Amino acid sequence: MYLVKSPRLLKKLYSKLTWHMPPGKPSIFLTFDDGPIPIVTPFVLKILKRHNAKATFFCIGDNISKHPDVFEQVKSDGHAIGNHTYNHLNGWKTEDKIYIENTLKTDSLLHTNLFRPPYGRIKRSQVSLLQKAKPGLQFIMWDVLSGDFDINLDPEKCLKNVLKHTRPGSVVVFHDSLKAFPRLEYVLPRAMEAWAGKGYAFEGLPSNDEKSTTSIKKLKGQMSKQSPTEIDKQLKDLRDEWE
Ligand SMILES: [Zn+2]
Repeated sequence: MYLVKSPRLLKKLYSKLTWHMPPGKPSIFLTFDDGPIPIVTPFVLKILKRHNAKATFFCIGDNISKHPDVFEQVKSDGHAIGNHTYNHLNGWKTEDKIYIENTLKTDSLLHTNLFRPPYGRIKRSQVSLLQKAKPGLQFIMWDVLSGDFDINLDPEKCLKNVLKHTRPGSVVVFHDSLKAFPRLEYVLPRAMEAWAGKGYAFEGLPSNDEKSTTSIKKLKGQMSKQSPTEIDKQLKDLRDEWE
């Protein structure tokens, strides 16, 4: 089960992470996780273009490798790009070294200061290791979860949830994934129409690449001591679980 609004306690515990943007101006920060993939990502791009909107795409490295043309399209449309690990790892179930290496593998493909942990699950140790590897890395969570990935959620209900909870400065999570598409396809155009009618603007999260190449190299050096077969095995198990 998931919560549409992030619980206050969780926000307090993880105060280092970003949950929403300052509510100063009437902007909404739409985010799309798990792409880039054919059909779904281009659909999202088309809807965004209709409203002259910018958004943020938290990409899975493996999908960037498989669909470089779709990734190029996202970039050339001027959207912000974020890291979502290479294999969609669950931080709670993953050894720190593997988690960091998997995340840095994606960093080499997109160079961004924006990161979102898959499932929103990350250990404090992983937060600090990543901060060491990439000073300036922003951990982007959300304050509105659309629930578009929930196959039992009625699209109309999904739309109502999203409209009810979004306010100025909200960071809203959608998924450009095949699983979410039946709901996303219904909700996104309607939600954007409603928000635009209320005078909201749509912005990408502020991104600039303040990567520290030296510390990434240093960290990679430390991690290479772990045997590659061991890493591969753990990654495979995680992938099986995800797929
Ligand atoms: Zn994800």
